[in-house]
Amino acid sequence: MTLTTFHNEPFTDFSQPAHKAAMEAALAKVRSQFGQTYPLWIGGEQIQTQNSLASINPALKSEVVGTVCQANRQHIEQALQIAGKRFEDWRYTSAELRAGYLFKAAAEIRRNKFEWAAWQVYEAGKNWGEADADVAEAIDFLEYYGREMLRLAEPTPLTPLAGEFNRQYYIPLGVGVIIPPWNFPLAILVGMTTSAIVTGNTVLLKPSPNTSVIAARFVELMHRIGLPSGVINFVPGPPEEIGDFMVEHPQTRFISFTGSKTVGLRIAERAAKTAQGQRWIKRVIAEMGGKDGIVVDKNADLEDAAVQIVASAFGFQGQKCSAASRAILHKDIYDAVTERVIELTRALKMGPPAENFYTGPVIDQKSFDKIMSYIEIGKQEATLAVGGERGLEEGFYIQPTVFTNAKRGARIMCEEIFGPVLAIYRAESFEEAIDTFNDTEYGLTGAVYSYDRSHLEYAQNRMHCGNLYFNRKCTGALVGVHPFGGFNMSGTDSKAGGPDYLLQFMQAKAVSEKF
Ligand code: GLU
Repeated sequence: MTLTTFHNEPFTDFSQPAHKAAMEAALAKVRSQFGQTYPLWIGGEQIQTQNSLASINPALKSEVVGTVCQANRQHIEQALQIAGKRFEDWRYTSAELRAGYLFKAAAEIRRNKFEWAAWQVYEAGKNWGEADADVAEAIDFLEYYGREMLRLAEPTPLTPLAGEFNRQYYIPLGVGVIIPPWNFPLAILVGMTTSAIVTGNTVLLKPSPNTSVIAARFVELMHRIGLPSGVINFVPGPPEEIGDFMVEHPQTRFISFTGSKTVGLRIAERAAKTAQGQRWIKRVIAEMGGKDGIVVDKNADLEDAAVQIVASAFGFQGQKCSAASRAILHKDIYDAVTERVIELTRALKMGPPAENFYTGPVIDQKSFDKIMSYIEIGKQEATLAVGGERGLEEGFYIQPTVFTNAKRGARIMCEEIFGPVLAIYRAESFEEAIDTFNDTEYGLTGAVYSYDRSHLEYAQNRMHCGNLYFNRKCTGALVGVHPFGGFNMSGTDSKAGGPDYLLQFMQAKAVSEKF
């Protein structure tokens, strides 16, 4: 297979009238497709169920984007058996054939980029830029993992031994359970699902109830482009009914999860128990959140630091594992940077994502309540400088909120809020700033603004996070460029969009022949 080398999908410039018009047309077209019912897919069959769930627009709670059928335990049992059978031939298909499905899917999504973005605007509450970046990342994952599989299909270099023919190659694991999040409803779902299948596994895909319509449309696309039945089985359903059941089932070989720490730890615990008849140790690949922060040294580009703190804290309402929820500022520049962050935050405009306002809603009532309760906690622990109130009543809007004078050890400095809340801390020294950054059980992303190269080196050695950025924001990792994933309670140290990622879905087999 001769391919171009991998390059990241460019982002769309919506200031160009043609792109703006295309997005408006896509939003109108997508809106005209609201109200459909989406089936389960098990073994290539579309299954309608009695039980279904409405997926609503978080910016307009009364608006139903689509209705998604819900799997029960019998469906899961059936899907696991079918995925197990399908695995027996899918595992022997060539890497080239499997990768071909990913390249084809990338091309299809690229052709309809604006529509895929528009679905996210309505179902996830992303503004145009955020939605477009998500679609670009989905394309990147497909292009990148397809090429990665071709690379890994090459023989592994080994030490030669005279008189023997030796080789090592990678084989898949089996049937996997894929549980992606709602915050990157296309990109992360596509990355998690296709990394598992391109390596030769078959899967059950259980999307987040918040963004199941986008998930259903992706599964439909994969079937349309000819992916064999039973390779991806689509089983949206109530987590409390099917979640543990899927994880604990003896047929399940691995679980790939992105979401909260609580759920991730529960999965790890349940997966560690050996079910009757189970013949393997289950593998868990989990990405579980963060308490990320940006450190600003006394000698740094303060204007850019303030701009990127705001972008990292409030882009997509702070609903990214990578979002900066802490700004740790050297005392000498604390006042200047804080003042500018407050000014920039005040200037953010809130309104419907479909009209491309910067600040949209948070995802659902549960998130809304949790974030508002953290704002109350913040009022006790620090000084409320901006925001702190709910926004437009028709959706789950919350004002971008900044707390100043946050203390080390305060809950808003340690716990993941997953919303538009930023705590600002005054550090006594650069070293104390780094210690404060590390003062959390998470370790996902971090950034440092400094002109002092010895400080950057100090930070490089001591800041314990999987993605450390210098003189830039701490969100927006690019596939292939910034392999993404964190340490400690942020997950299992995996790196999505990096050269090690696919190995987690495979095992190495060594074959030796004596001549
Ligand atoms: N990869 C995304 C970023 O760098 C964050 C992914 C997530 O929120 O899970 O911003």
